[in-house]
Amino acid sequence: MDSENKTTSTDTVWKAKYTELVAQSDRLEKEQGVTEKLLCRTIIRLTLAANGLDAALDPHLKKLRTLLKAGVKNERLREQVDAVSEALIRAEDGDETTVSFDAALLFDFLRYCAKGEDEEVAISALHDDYTNNKFSDLNSLFRAVGSAFGEKEAKATSKPGLLGRLFGRSKKSEVNEQFDPALQKELLGRLLDSLDVPSYLQHQLETLKQQAEKDSGDSSLFFKILEDTIALLLRIKSKIKEEQREIEAFLSDVTSQIKKIGSGSEVMQSFFHESNVARDQLASCVSSNVNELTQESQQATSLDDLRSSVKSKLATLSSQVEEHLSNDKSRAEKAEEKLEEMAQAIKVMEAETAGLKSSINLKHDLAYTDSLTGLPNRLAYDERITNELARWKRFKESFTLLVWDIDHFKSINDRFGHQAGDVALRKISAILSAAMRETDFVARFGGEEFVMFLPGATKDQALSKANVIRGKIKGCGFNSKGKPIEITASCGLTQFQDGDTPETVFDRADKALYQAKNGGRNQCVFG
Ligand code: GH3
Ligand code: MG
Ligand code: MG
Repeated sequence: MDSENKTTSTDTVWKAKYTELVAQSDRLEKEQGVTEKLLCRTIIRLTLAANGLDAALDPHLKKLRTLLKAGVKNERLREQVDAVSEALIRAEDGDETTVSFDAALLFDFLRYCAKGEDEEVAISALHDDYTNNKFSDLNSLFRAVGSAFGEKEAKATSKPGLLGRLFGRSKKSEVNEQFDPALQKELLGRLLDSLDVPSYLQHQLETLKQQAEKDSGDSSLFFKILEDTIALLLRIKSKIKEEQREIEAFLSDVTSQIKKIGSGSEVMQSFFHESNVARDQLASCVSSNVNELTQESQQATSLDDLRSSVKSKLATLSSQVEEHLSNDKSRAEKAEEKLEEMAQAIKVMEAETAGLKSSINLKHDLAYTDSLTGLPNRLAYDERITNELARWKRFKESFTLLVWDIDHFKSINDRFGHQAGDVALRKISAILSAAMRETDFVARFGGEEFVMFLPGATKDQALSKANVIRGKIKGCGFNSKGKPIEITASCGLTQFQDGDTPETVFDRADKALYQAKNGGRNQCVFG
């Protein structure tokens, strides 16, 4: 009985152990599955990121991506990983730039966000440090970016800007180092809003914005959206590279057409030269034949002699002329063929140049246009303000700069969704551009901020025009889901003054805008 009891309790222990082991193995398998998926996704992204960097590597990366989509338990995967490793070793041997591609993207992005020369210098210094391996990992790099921008901006404005807040720590997160969902959601929203993507990627950007809007504070979701944003940036970068390659191909095409035309004209020159030589030869043959004939006719003793010598000389002359004419004809035909070839090459070149010209014009327009509102963008503003200031220095005609900012726009997004916010931005853009005269200018400076020039208007005229526009914005009748929503905007105005730079004049208008906000919003202040 005793031994039976013992056996049962040993059985129970083993059963429990077995069940525990099975559960553990299940758990491990699940975790492994999740890790595997994550790994696959990361590797696929990395292969996409590296795409276009090395032509020898690209086909291997493509194969690797296809295989990875079927999961890691794929026998051919190992062969492909080996092939990529080998290709990578070869690529690194030949080209050092392949190593830091992701950081290059980060630095491109930082430069894109940089405001002014100081920040650009700071970014270059960080880039140098990164290249010299001064950062042990990406986190320490991000921290360095954060302190370079966050602290500087915080000192200057008591409110860090996008870069500082994105990479640095907020006051909130200094107290609590945990992931702060609300803050990260706001930063992600700002990052997405700051992106100016080509129209064919606009849809992707919108989807990301919507996802960011919905993000419920789950940190893995946040990083997934961040990852997708980086993938979007990479697509923009690879598009730029593709365009560069297209232009290079075009240039090499044009070069070969020019070479064709060049060699054609050499051939034509040699035709003309041959033709001249042949004509000279014919002339000298004719004249020597005529001389001989003259002599022979003088020496001829009978009419028969004379007749036969004239006959033979004429035969020679006529065969020489015939030969010359037939050579000349074939030379002319060849020359015509060559000319035709050259004309064809010129036509091809003209067509290609025209195509490139219109695509450059299109790209130029796209580069200077904000895709959401259709207004000129910040880049266009930067160029215009520099030109306007230079003009003002010559003519000193009164010139007003206005900076508009929509009031409490964040709460419009929060209450009615990002898409409704976008509709409001379009509506306000339409009001601003409708108020413009031919020499006036309005651009979307970024986010919910607009800049406007009123050349020629006096201070009072500009202020009264700004107030009219402000009234139109307030009464624009924007509504969401049938409910009317009041939107107001504040405006800071200033005029060019002696010694101004684009930055000083903007700062003055921005300070006036700040006063308008502090004074209760929905107002225009001259500074
Ligand atoms: P204030 O009156 O002080 O200007 O408050 P605000 O809420 O307008 O200012 P804040 O700078 O805090 O927020 C600006 C908001 O504008 C946050 C951002 O999500 C939103 N925004 C910027 N660009 C876009 C965009 O392209 N579409 C949408 N829907 N929202 C945008
Ligand atoms: Mg703003
Ligand atoms: Mg605002």
